[in-house]
Amino acid sequence: GSKQVMEAFAEELKKNKLDQEIKLGETDCHGFCEMGPLVIVYPEGTFYIRVKAEDVPEIVEEHLVKGRIVDRLLYKAPVTEDEIPTYKELDFYRKQYRVALRNCGSIDPEKIQEYIARDGYASLEKAVYDLTPEQVIEEVKTSGLRGRGGGGFSTGLKWEFCRRSPGDLKYLICNADEGDPGAFMDRSILEGDPHSLIEGMAIAAYAIGCSEGYIYCRAEYPLAIKRLKIAIAQAEELGLLGENILGTDFSFKLHIKEGAGAFVCGEETALMASIEGKRGMPRVRPPFPAQKGLWDKPSNINNVETYANVSVIIGKGADWFGGMGTEKSKGTKVFALTGKVNNTGLVEVPMGIPIREIIFEIGGGIVGGKEYKGVQIGGPSGGCIPASLMDTSVDYESLIQAGAMMGSGGLVVMDETTCMVDLARFFLNFTQSESCGKCTPCREGTKRMLEILTRICDGEGVPEDIETLERLGRVIKATALCGLGNTAPNPVLSTLRYFRDEYEAHIFDKR
Ligand code: SF4
Repeated sequence: GSKQVMEAFAEELKKNKLDQEIKLGETDCHGFCEMGPLVIVYPEGTFYIRVKAEDVPEIVEEHLVKGRIVDRLLYKAPVTEDEIPTYKELDFYRKQYRVALRNCGSIDPEKIQEYIARDGYASLEKAVYDLTPEQVIEEVKTSGLRGRGGGGFSTGLKWEFCRRSPGDLKYLICNADEGDPGAFMDRSILEGDPHSLIEGMAIAAYAIGCSEGYIYCRAEYPLAIKRLKIAIAQAEELGLLGENILGTDFSFKLHIKEGAGAFVCGEETALMASIEGKRGMPRVRPPFPAQKGLWDKPSNINNVETYANVSVIIGKGADWFGGMGTEKSKGTKVFALTGKVNNTGLVEVPMGIPIREIIFEIGGGIVGGKEYKGVQIGGPSGGCIPASLMDTSVDYESLIQAGAMMGSGGLVVMDETTCMVDLARFFLNFTQSESCGKCTPCREGTKRMLEILTRICDGEGVPEDIETLERLGRVIKATALCGLGNTAPNPVLSTLRYFRDEYEAHIFDKR
């Protein structure tokens, strides 16, 4: 309904002769999906939720003409006139640190001027005029930025490997093939602030020595692709991309490649095969992409969120960025908060925040006041963390220790009514159908695991099933060729670790 709300505002402002005085701006997602469509009135930041076109005349008449707040459209009614909360004071936003999402919901993503007005491209200018490529890499290394796509490898180190690889032609790639069920972090950045990705990629290209780059984006994101195309054309027109960027001898040409929806193409070697026009299948590593990547040239791949952090690091400095997070996991992480939680949406939090705070403070607790059971972190490659471990810190190391992983940032909340065996079956069904079939452990092993899980859910499980699932899971993890297979058993193994009684109840009590 946002478009209708927008149209209604244009009409009402005109009717009240306010259309010259008040600027009506369109933005993309602000993160609080549960409460949309949102209307924010600046400069004070009054935050109206679930606004419909019918509400618009009242907002214009009461708020914009008479200066009175429309209480019924606020997230929480104020106690006194002086206590009207701005959006930054709402529970959903108070604990968030918006770095990668800094502009999402605040600028019009189709207008480069709005990005520039918020210091956009100033970091690219700083990099190409004031810093050597080595200094840029050093800054990113010192910041502690690690890959936000799941692996968690040091971004600066990865860039250094690629820079040091011999060869004149090197490629820079962005993995925007976000395919995890329940995840929409990258989509939101692409649709809401595409220039933050483009600027981050241009800085990375300068640091590594790449003259050409690709954004591999899933075709199921047509709006993201449309906005990327607009943003690339605008940046080229202003000399921020293409030949002789900002009048220097640094050139960087950026292309978009649309993926065809295979989850396995999120794996870097499969992604590169797909760009080359081949079937998207992983290959053995080494050689790593930094040595032999796209068309056998040294290549660097990072995901959207990783690149979106880069210009802030160059602009504000490594120490500023490193001041957020834990000793080994620096900065912030974007999560798609979904499932049985009151405030669903997109949240960006400092690393190290306990799971409890995300779910009960930012997320506003469990729907209907039901009991919290656990959370699936990291999508189908991640694991399930039970309520007893809700004080676990959200950082790379702690999540792995708890049997999950950061993954790309899916966070699905479960309540007391969720059957954990069924949940494990759901995620395994997804990875099984997305298995490319190249290697036996993943192709055959996940199929056998899924058969057993289905049997258990149908009340036909046998006592040996639990041990077979564990054995198969361990073998697949250790022997599969790529990350998809290596992590596919995680939802089963983590639910077996924490919710074994539910498997036993299905088998022995036939529940
Ligand atoms: Fe393909 Fe699975 Fe093997 Fe990866 S692990 S190469 S997805 S069969």
